[in-house]
Amino acid sequence: MARDAKYDILFEPIRIGPKTLRNRFYQVPHCSGFGSGKPWSQAGHRGMKAEGGWGAVCTEFAPVSPETDENPYPSARMWDDGDVRALGLMASAAHAHGALAGIELHHGGIHCSNESRQPVLTVSPVAGDGLPIVGQTMQAGDIRRVQEDWVAAARRAQAAEYDIVYVYGGHTYLPMQFLSPFYNKRTDEYGGSLENRARFWLETLELVRGAVGDTCAIAVRISVDEVTPATVPVEEALEFVRMADHLVDLWDVNVSSIVEWGKDAGGSRFYPEGYQLQWTGRVREATAKPIVGVSRMTSPDLMVEIVSSGKWDIIGAARPSIADPFLPRKIEEGRLDDIRECIGGNQCIAAVSRSHHLSCSQNATAGEEYRRGWHPEEVPPAENKDRDVLVVGAGPAGMECAIVLGRRGLRRVHLVDAEAELGGNLRWLTRLPGLGQWARVVNYRRIQLDKLANVEFVPGTRLDAAAVRDYGAAVVVVATGARWAADGLNGVTRGPIPGADAGLAHVLTPEQVVLEGKRPPGKRVVVYDGEGYVTGVGVAELLRGEGYDVEIVSPLVSIAQQSDLNLEGVLIREHLRNLGVQQRTLTTITEIRSGGALAEGFDGPLELEADGVVLVTQRLANEQLFVELDSDRGALEAAGIQGAYRIGDCTAPRTLADAVFDGHRLARELESDDPSRPRPVLREWAMHRAEDVVGAAVG
Ligand code: ADP
Repeated sequence: MARDAKYDILFEPIRIGPKTLRNRFYQVPHCSGFGSGKPWSQAGHRGMKAEGGWGAVCTEFAPVSPETDENPYPSARMWDDGDVRALGLMASAAHAHGALAGIELHHGGIHCSNESRQPVLTVSPVAGDGLPIVGQTMQAGDIRRVQEDWVAAARRAQAAEYDIVYVYGGHTYLPMQFLSPFYNKRTDEYGGSLENRARFWLETLELVRGAVGDTCAIAVRISVDEVTPATVPVEEALEFVRMADHLVDLWDVNVSSIVEWGKDAGGSRFYPEGYQLQWTGRVREATAKPIVGVSRMTSPDLMVEIVSSGKWDIIGAARPSIADPFLPRKIEEGRLDDIRECIGGNQCIAAVSRSHHLSCSQNATAGEEYRRGWHPEEVPPAENKDRDVLVVGAGPAGMECAIVLGRRGLRRVHLVDAEAELGGNLRWLTRLPGLGQWARVVNYRRIQLDKLANVEFVPGTRLDAAAVRDYGAAVVVVATGARWAADGLNGVTRGPIPGADAGLAHVLTPEQVVLEGKRPPGKRVVVYDGEGYVTGVGVAELLRGEGYDVEIVSPLVSIAQQSDLNLEGVLIREHLRNLGVQQRTLTTITEIRSGGALAEGFDGPLELEADGVVLVTQRLANEQLFVELDSDRGALEAAGIQGAYRIGDCTAPRTLADAVFDGHRLARELESDDPSRPRPVLREWAMHRAEDVVGAAVG
């Protein structure tokens, strides 16, 4: 199918300095967990997006010298020839598919951890606002040195054949720290007036442009917003754009500081697609140069609207490009219903915040391009297609498994669920406030399942072990999910909670609240959240919205503690406070009674008054069906079943991304000697010799 003519504008090439971007799709710099340390994964991941049609793909932040790092967060680097070789792989992968390669050259200033053991550099002698670090205040010599490092790194990037070189200041990194009076308290020629505060950035740009501007496009990433005092007022940001415009080929605009990163990489709970436009849409007032902006955009119609309006020339994306590396190609080929839209759950960020390999709730292949050799759009045909497969459970794991098996050409795949609808736990989880867009996981898969003639969804059918054996399938995959503990079982006291019994009127599970409409007998509710992720706060908000007096109680240090990794923790706590939900932390419930609960708080024992307690302590795998099947291998054999496996939450209740991954992996590896175990992955060993990487700077 050809693309709809209304999207033509998205496929017009555009000049950025000495380079031409083939279309208007640009993968902005984003963390991956790969950096320079996993160069093959880096190349595999970005190269896949180039193949999927992105006009440019960029690295994550790439410190210009060992003087600035954010370990343990993995980063790209441009310190020496080792990095030229490592990151050159990615540039080649981009070029092989006709995309430009960009590198986000970076200096963190006060925002770094410094594993190098060199003092952190700071614009002014004020401690870091996220880290308990007081830096070395930069003197003229330090300023020159950093600028020289930036130039040397740019030369190395040029040698590695990068097309776009950043002088990155957005997210309040060093150039922005000079620009922002929040950081900059200097009284010399680098502080005070806007002209003085802009000096560091302008000088650096001039030097980098002089060094590589004939062959590389120069990009600046700058925060333009009013969401934090850490940046500069929008008018000042626009004035800076005017001052620097002659030195810049591409303006990459976003919002907020790294400390309040959740307001930039905003989750779908609080931020709609395109929300940054209210600020970054104004940059056009200050420049005629190309502008790229972001806002977790997946709608081609919105993209067209923005480019046609002239506010931005180029559609930037990080998360949508992870969820669907082939988003541009799908628009080009008129396959909009095949787009795997980002759900805005920020799983990708949670993974890299833990220094884990990249992962995604929608795209099981994200980050697996190199180490597992997975392609997001292609699967190898199954070796033995002549088999029928039964998948029991149509949650995220089961749906993904059935789709991949179907694409691999298995003769017949039956996806059976006790319920009438696809989706498993997402049927009810997505009804919680703020989680509506997570339904995209189900919607995408519903469409794909409909397209597969060899896959059939069989609703309303609960299977027991005997029924599974009698079903007539050669392969059985159990994906029966998990449930919330109904007795308060938890990892703090490592047992159930006395008096916790969801059979009683005043004790409730999340499923009972959302699916069955069970409500406490009075107005006062305690939501006991031992998980600290989305369910507890979602139930609390739901009940508060219905007029209950809600207190969310957690043994953790903060409410929604896990969501800090997804950048939502602070925003959720603020939101609950605004809604009037009471929040109590460091409190372990030890007994539930009619009328309340006994607890151990930070200051000692206490009594919580409540008409009902919702237990969000932990989930339990629905493993009975698999265990029963597995415990009688003779009966399986007699029924002609060659293999029975389990995937997703019925193995161990984990994240949505893990459930989808599990289903995907099993379907890909069905021919393995033991498909229940993952095949070995390609590892990346750091095997440089010292002389490869020390003192080998280019230029
Ligand atoms: P996951 O996250 O691992 O995909 P979910 O909990 O989301 O798991 O989904 C599990 C699905 O399995 C639910 O839709 C549930 O109705 C279904 N299910 C559980 N047990 C059976 C069974 N014995 N027969 C059919 N369907 C089942």
